Amino acid sequence: MSQPIKIGIVGVGKIVRDQHLPALAKDGDFQLIAAASRHGKVDDIANFPDIETMLGAVPELEAVSLCMPPQFRYAAARTALEAKKHVFMEKPPGATVSEVEDLKALAAQNGVTLFASWHSRYAPAVEAARKFLGATTIRSAAIVWKEDVRRWHPNQDWIWQPGGFGVFDPGINALSIATHILPAMHITSAVLDFPENRDAPVAAQVSFIASTGLPVTMDLDWLQTGPQSWDILADTDAGRMVLSGGGSKLAIDGKVVHEEPEAEYPLLYRRFSEIVRAGASDVDLAPLQHVADAFMLGKRNVVEAFFD
Ligand code: NAP
Repeated sequence: MSQPIKIGIVGVGKIVRDQHLPALAKDGDFQLIAAASRHGKVDDIANFPDIETMLGAVPELEAVSLCMPPQFRYAAARTALEAKKHVFMEKPPGATVSEVEDLKALAAQNGVTLFASWHSRYAPAVEAARKFLGATTIRSAAIVWKEDVRRWHPNQDWIWQPGGFGVFDPGINALSIATHILPAMHITSAVLDFPENRDAPVAAQVSFIASTGLPVTMDLDWLQTGPQSWDILADTDAGRMVLSGGGSKLAIDGKVVHEEPEAEYPLLYRRFSEIVRAGASDVDLAPLQHVADAFMLGKRNVVEAFFD
């Protein structure tokens, strides 16, 4: 049996505590031995203020997970890849498409793995939805992703800043599923609502068309209180598909055909281990490209100011 991969984690915040630490604690394929963060700390391992100090002090590290916000990811990823460490990047993998292309080339040059992780693709009913859609003709599809930013992203200033993506931070999760289960598509129009005091949108309506002619709409809203919606709907020749709960439940014509508890982060680390051991990378930029296109093509509306 191969030795566990010695890994360090960078940017110790909400997602590290909620998901990375529990997933790594149960994964015999990894041994978490160090963390780098300006304020956050992980118990019982070596902690450092930044990635450079961590890599210098712990040369036996083989891999790093980068979990800081996307605007601050590139420099850390470059440092790690140049030091020949395998890199796992939280979604979204960067603030621009071209910086991630650059990192992909750098990983190949240095003979290490780069994993641009899309956690929602590992939601339990996503593969069943892909299989269902692949076996029928889709007439139309709609993405409806509506959540309460105050509940899920309290006091996260970076998310409202340029490169933080605003409502496209959850929206890119929807796109990571849609680009996996629907035919290739491109944006034809978009309207983005920017609060007058923020640099990122709080809502967006986006229309796509696939090369097959399939129309797809996406409705993103970050001010939804009460029940939250993370749904992809499709009208097909085999019935009406509803993939709900962020990819966790699949129903056809109202009948639930697949539902199980999510295990997204354990599956992400399984995938990372597989590609490290196979000497491969996994960097699909389709979801990030759609977000870039929405910002490029989108009409900008200024709406009421947003306060936490
Ligand atoms: P967060 O807690 O606000 O940030 C993570 C950590 O990054 C912070 O604790 C901070 O640690 C570091 N950081 C913040 N600003 C930085 C800066 N300017 N330069 C360097 N480091 C900085 O955010 P999060 O919710 O964990 O999200 C991090 C990433 O995970 C994002 O890409 C997000 O889209 C993704 N994600 C989040 C969730 C979620 O539910 N929150 C779910 C899935 C994926 P230090 O101050 O200690 O350096």
